[in-house]
Amino acid sequence: MDFFIQRTGLRDIYDKVAAGERISDADALRLFESKDLNAVGAIADFARQRKVGNRASYIVNRYINYSNYCILSCQFCSFARKKRDADGFQYTTEEIVGKAREALNLGITELHIVGGLHPSLPFSYYTDMLKALKALDNRLQLKCFTAIEILHLAWLAKKSVLQTLIELKEAGLDSLTGGGAEIFRKEVRSAIARGKESAEEYLDVHRTWHKLGGRSTCTMLYGHVESLADRVDHLRRLRGLQDETRGFVGFVPLAYHPEDNDIPVAHPPTGFDSLRTIAVSRVYLDNFDHITAYWVGLGLKLAQVALSYGADDLHGTIIEEHIFHMAGATVPQLQTEANMLKAIREARRTPVQRNTFYEPIKILENAPTPELQENSARSKVLEDNLATA
Ligand code: SF4
Repeated sequence: MDFFIQRTGLRDIYDKVAAGERISDADALRLFESKDLNAVGAIADFARQRKVGNRASYIVNRYINYSNYCILSCQFCSFARKKRDADGFQYTTEEIVGKAREALNLGITELHIVGGLHPSLPFSYYTDMLKALKALDNRLQLKCFTAIEILHLAWLAKKSVLQTLIELKEAGLDSLTGGGAEIFRKEVRSAIARGKESAEEYLDVHRTWHKLGGRSTCTMLYGHVESLADRVDHLRRLRGLQDETRGFVGFVPLAYHPEDNDIPVAHPPTGFDSLRTIAVSRVYLDNFDHITAYWVGLGLKLAQVALSYGADDLHGTIIEEHIFHMAGATVPQLQTEANMLKAIREARRTPVQRNTFYEPIKILENAPTPELQENSARSKVLEDNLATA
C-alpha cells in the first residue's frame, strides 16, 4: 500500500489519516480530483477498517411513502405529484398499518416513512400514524420525515420546529431521515430544488432534533450540476454539525438519477464517481462512524465493491421503493437479506444485521449459519409474495 499511495502524490493525505489527523477541504478536493481511484479507495479502506473493523451492516426494513402529493416542484424530483395528476396517491393510517403488519411478518425492525409536502393533511394525521404503528409493535423503529417535511408540518400546524419535533417524538418518532440535503450551496440548490429549505434550515432541524436526544442520518445528492468543490462544501457543513452534536449515526451519499424530471444530465454518476464520492466521504467525515453504500442508487454489485472503498453499510431490504424508481432506477424494488449477506461475505466482511441507529442486532460470524438459512427462507417468502402481488 505504501508504494501504491507514494506513486499517486497522495502520500501526505495518507500520512494525516494514519496519524489520526483531520484532512482539510483542500485535501478532500485533491482526493476528489485524483485519477487514481484505487489509491483514494485504499486510504478510505484504511480509515474504515480503523473505525469499524471487519464488520459490514444492513437493516431489515420497509419503505412506505404515505403520499406523493407535494406543494413544491423541485426540478430534480420525479416523485412529486399534484392533486390533478392521475398517479398521485395518499394512504390512510389503516392502509399504512396494513403495510406495516405485512412487513412485520418478514422480520423488519424499521419502517422508513417519507412523503411529499402534502398541502392539507392535518398534523394529527402524522401523530396518529406514528401512534398506530407503535401500537402495532412497540419494538418497531420509526425513521420518518425529512427536514423539509418537519418544516412543512411546523408551518401547517403553526408550531415551532422544536414543538413539532417534541410532539412527533412523543407520538413515537425514533429517528429523522437524512433526505432533502441535496447540495447545500445556495446557487446549486436554487438550480435543482427551488423553494426548498435552505442549508441552514436543514441543519437547524437536525440540530434541534439532536439536542432533544434524537438521532438521524444525512445525505448528499451528487452527480447533477454541482462541482466537486460544492461536494466538499456540503461535507464540510455536515462535519461541522456533527462536531457540535454527534447526532448523525450515518452518512448516505445518493447518486443522482435523471429520468422524468427537469434536470436531464447527459452523464449521471458513473461507478468511478460513486466510488470516489464514498471514499472521500469516509476520509473527510472523520467524526462519522458509518458510511452507507445505497444499493438502490448504485445497484447491489457496485454497493458491494464500495465496501472496499470506505463504505461499511449496504442499507436495507426496503421492499417497496418509489423515489429512485420514478427517476429511472432499474434495480429491483427490494433486496433480499440473503443477497445482502452474500454480498457482504464475498467482500470478506462479517455481516451485521443492524437497527435504525446502526447498533448490532445480530452478528453473523460464520457461514452458513442457521440464521442464514432462516434468512434465506424469509427472503424466499418475500420473493414469492412479490411474485404473486
Ligand atoms: S424533492 Fe421532496 S419537496 Fe421537492 S418536489 Fe420532490 S417530494 Fe416535493
